[in-house]
Amino acid sequence: MRYRKFGHTSLEVSEIGLGCEHLEGKDTDTVVSVVQAAMDAGINIMDCFMSEPKVRSDLGLALQGSRQRMMIQGHLRSVWKNGQYGRTMDIDEVQFFFEDLLTRLRTDYIDFGMIHMVDNEKDLRDIFDGPILQYALALKKQGTIRYLGISSHNSTVARLAVESGLLDCIMLSVNPAYDILHPAHMTLRPSKENLVDQAHGIDSERFQLYRACQSHGCAITTMKTLGAGILLRSDLSPFGKAMTDHQCIHYALDRPAVASAMIGMKTVEEVARAAAYDTASPKETDYTDILRLSPNYSETGACVYCNHCLPCPASLDIAQIQKYLDLALPSGPVPPTLQAHYESLEHTAIECLECGRCERSCPFGVHVRDRMRQAVARFGK
Ligand code: SF4
Ligand code: SF4
Repeated sequence: MRYRKFGHTSLEVSEIGLGCEHLEGKDTDTVVSVVQAAMDAGINIMDCFMSEPKVRSDLGLALQGSRQRMMIQGHLRSVWKNGQYGRTMDIDEVQFFFEDLLTRLRTDYIDFGMIHMVDNEKDLRDIFDGPILQYALALKKQGTIRYLGISSHNSTVARLAVESGLLDCIMLSVNPAYDILHPAHMTLRPSKENLVDQAHGIDSERFQLYRACQSHGCAITTMKTLGAGILLRSDLSPFGKAMTDHQCIHYALDRPAVASAMIGMKTVEEVARAAAYDTASPKETDYTDILRLSPNYSETGACVYCNHCLPCPASLDIAQIQKYLDLALPSGPVPPTLQAHYESLEHTAIECLECGRCERSCPFGVHVRDRMRQAVARFGK
């Protein structure tokens, strides 16, 4: 398993994370065996937003004696009422169900305390201006949650939250359909013709969000990485062609600031399937054929960070340099964290030999040499 730095923290999390949603309703032995298999595969981060008591308790059993092997992303604001999952703005309920989470998980701390599903501006204001944020900050101060985040399906709201500077992480729905299409279009299952009409390269709101996360050192963990399975089916995918798990995971991990791709797993076999990404070949993880189905995307000459242009005789990480360049553009000072990330690269754009080899290999017509010159101008090296 490969590991990644988690935003501005010193933590290293596994590229694949265990999404526990589908363990709800499973028997105790299954929950225990899936968590055990995940840990054995090197997965060290899991998400539990579920409020259902039994799955919480089963996860606690699974983690007993192994708590230090698994970082927990646990949610505040999800509740269990009348035998159903729900969300609340009532601070007493938030507190009750967070304490319930700790008790059932048999732990006295949560690594990443996520304020659950902040999906519209009113909820964001009510949460950030009210007792829920104060409660979360108090938990962080006393060490009961180590880091603070939110989960959201709304890029605009998530960006506002990130720009508050209060968050260490966000859980965000990330997949190529969400980046290229408005999320609402994906649920409508547009025809290929509609996709052509609607796609205009990457959604600018989402791009701003990625940029904000990178600038603030705010880590992203992904959800809907496989598009709830829609992207894996040619009859349902908005691209009219099925992607593989490996392609979806690779796409998510190529986005700026993404630390871990959370995959829902409910069997030991599914754990093995997700963990197999770690040893997949570049051919198996290549998602560019899907993006090429969007003519507007391929016409933009925009880098999609796929690294098809490697090898580079100057050993440049061409995708990473362009990722930083995109996050720094178009004007204004380069955020210090971004400058520091750029400077930590082993080789920077100033070393480009202008051989043009990369441009002959790039499937998206990116003018790499121009981009390397822009990077030198922007970052000074
Ligand atoms: S320049 Fe082209 S091949 Fe290289 S990372 Fe960007 S899109 Fe991929
Ligand atoms: S033009 Fe520059 S970035 Fe592209 S392959 Fe040559 S040295 Fe590498």
